[in-house]
This record gives sequence, structure tokens and C-alpha cells, in this order.
Amino acid sequence: MTATIPPAPDAAGPSAGPAASGGPATPDARAVVLAGARVVTPDGVLDPGWVSLSGSSIAAIGSGAPPADAGEVVDLGGGWLLPGFIDLHVHGGGGHDFTASPDDLAAGVAYHLSRGTTRTLVSLVTAPVDALVTQLGWVADAVEADTGVIGAHLEGPFLASARCGAQNPAHLIDPTPEAVERLLKAGRGHVRVVTVAPERPGGLELIEHLVAEGVVASVGHTDADYDTSLAAFERGASLVTHAFNGMRGAHHREPGPVPAALDAGVPCELINDGVHVHPAAARLLLRGTDRLVLITDAIDATGVGDGTYTLGGQDVVVSDGQARLASSGSLAGSTLTMDVAVRRAVTDVGLDIVDASVAASGTPARLLGLGGVCGAIAPGLDADLVLLDDGLELSRVLRGGRWLS
Ligand SMILES: [Zn+2]
Repeated sequence: MTATIPPAPDAAGPSAGPAASGGPATPDARAVVLAGARVVTPDGVLDPGWVSLSGSSIAAIGSGAPPADAGEVVDLGGGWLLPGFIDLHVHGGGGHDFTASPDDLAAGVAYHLSRGTTRTLVSLVTAPVDALVTQLGWVADAVEADTGVIGAHLEGPFLASARCGAQNPAHLIDPTPEAVERLLKAGRGHVRVVTVAPERPGGLELIEHLVAEGVVASVGHTDADYDTSLAAFERGASLVTHAFNGMRGAHHREPGPVPAALDAGVPCELINDGVHVHPAAARLLLRGTDRLVLITDAIDATGVGDGTYTLGGQDVVVSDGQARLASSGSLAGSTLTMDVAVRRAVTDVGLDIVDASVAASGTPARLLGLGGVCGAIAPGLDADLVLLDDGLELSRVLRGGRWLS
């Protein structure tokens, strides 16, 4: 499959690294002030608002007209300014599967950056441990090169065969200390999330071990019932991988993982493409504004079109934008992008724009301990911004203080 590659990733320029703490109190001569749009912050919408940038960081924000001495004013001409999106679950895009090669990983991340995802947690599907070790090395290299990759999510191999979805059941295994240590070591500290089926022998112990290592344990691809799911959250699991998909359904007498997560106050990932989860079911997740995490679960076909692709060595047919395994018809990831997930959260699920933004940026940043660096429009954080037009269509992307061309 050939693909059209979006603007080169370095169009945005390299980030200057972690944001300086606090912004300068006085405007400097080089400051740029973005004005004329509604600015979406975790506390509400500044309408109109302004955001002043200092290098790669946000220096200050405010409502109304920017101060006369704030710097060079750039009029955005309307629309909505949001923090850059943080996708915790994505496998590829723009014709590139992250697991194909380091170049494909970089190009797929660049594709999603062009759709507003300024930080990407690279999801690796179930594969033999040797293959995952190689892929984790690529992810660690990408993190250390400051490309917008924030680490790896291991979606397997410690998952339930009964709920494997598009994960290759031939490579699913029980967690062993040897396999876990090999994987964490290969990631060089950049394995940030591991999806676990807690009912597998050793599953609950794995969750405790991951939490002790500072890794987020996420319940998913699991046949666990309510009680087993609750036990997983009590051991420290703090996320649910694509809620409702790849797990027991929420039956009123057998409620399964999702109601257990709601009871435990654990955030849930949502593939908000209108295919994986009905909007009415998505609304069940809205118990508290900080409990929803918008993800894409996008595969390489995203942004390319219908056709035949592969995911984790299995053939996938994409038709009308829906990706399904050729063998079973099981949904196999999505062709969603974060800008569409956010727009649908407002238009189809009924979130207000502030809650949609928190679900796309603030909550994922908090889950990974990055709340002091990114995930909101606030002084001192990285200047990663997305401009949506009045109809919530993506207009422009700013990363590290520079617009993508
Ligand atoms: Zn996935």
C-alpha cells in the first residue's frame, strides 16, 4: 500500500524539551500572542481569549483583548484553541504500521501529528516476546529523539484468548517474571502502559509488579467478571483498555469490567468512532469529567482509505472506514483520528468542549504523570496547540511553539 505522507515531522521543529517551570512574568520582545479564538482551558472557555508563547512554552493566557505590550499579536480569526491531543492507544496511520520499521513508526506518528496528536503513546499488538523486544527498542529510540512519542503501550501478550479481538491468539501467554523483565528492560523505562487480562494465572501479581515499577496497568482484552475486575483495580490497575471492546459486556446481572471501573473511579478509554461503541453506551462512561480518555486505536489504514492491510501478522479488510479481521470479521482497530474523536464527543456523545478537551489531553497527561508538562492550555506548559474552526474541523496544529506547515 502506498500512502501520501503529510508534511515532514520536523516542519514543527524539534521541541525544546520539558517546559520551563512557570512563565516569564513580563512579556519579552520575541513573545507571540495568539488571539481572536475561543481558548479552551480545563476551567472553562475564554471567549475570546489569548495565549502568549515564549519559545516552546505557554507564557500566559487571558480573556478579552491581549495586553498592549504582550508581544506580536497573531489573529486566529475565530475557532477554538485546544491543547494538543494525547493519544494513549494507536497502532499506525497514513499507511504506516508502527511495528513495521523505525521509519514507519516516525511516519505514522507524523501523520497523527498532522491531525492534532502532539503526543503519541505507541501501542504494540500481541507478538512473540522477541519481536516486542525489537519494537520496544524502536519506541525507546523515538522517545529519546524527542519526536512526540511518549512511550509504549503493550497491548499483549498477557491477554485472554476468549477476548483477543484482533490480537493474534497464537502469541498470548501467561505473564512470567522472565518475560515481563525482558519487555520492561527493552523499553528502557519507556513502557508506560501494559494491558492485562487479570484472570490469567499471575495476572493480579503482574498488575502489582507493574504498579511498583511505575507502569500503568490497564484492564483489557479480558473475560474477567465484575469481582475479578474490581480485584484488579484494588491491586492498582488504573485504566481500562478500549472500554466495552475486547471484554465482557455490561449485563445487568453480570456487569463485568466497565461497571467495576466506574465503581472504582478508574478512567476508561473510548474508541469514539461511532462503530466500536454506541453513543448511548459511551454516555454511561461520563460519571465524572476526568474518567474518560479519548483514543483512536488507529491502524495504518487511517488516512489512506479502504483496502487490505495487516495488523500483527493478520489480514485486515477496511471497508467504509471500518477495519475488520479478514478471518473472523472481528473489529481490528479503527481509522479514527483524534480530531474526529473530539468532534464526535461533542456532536454525537453530548460532551461540552471543555470535557471533550480534558478527555483528549488533560486526563491522558495526568495518567502518565505529564500534567506538569502538557495536556492543557496553561502558563508553563508546552506550547502544543490545536486550532479547530467554528464547526470543530481541524484547522492548524502547533507543536513546541511552531506551526506545522
Ligand atoms: Zn489497540
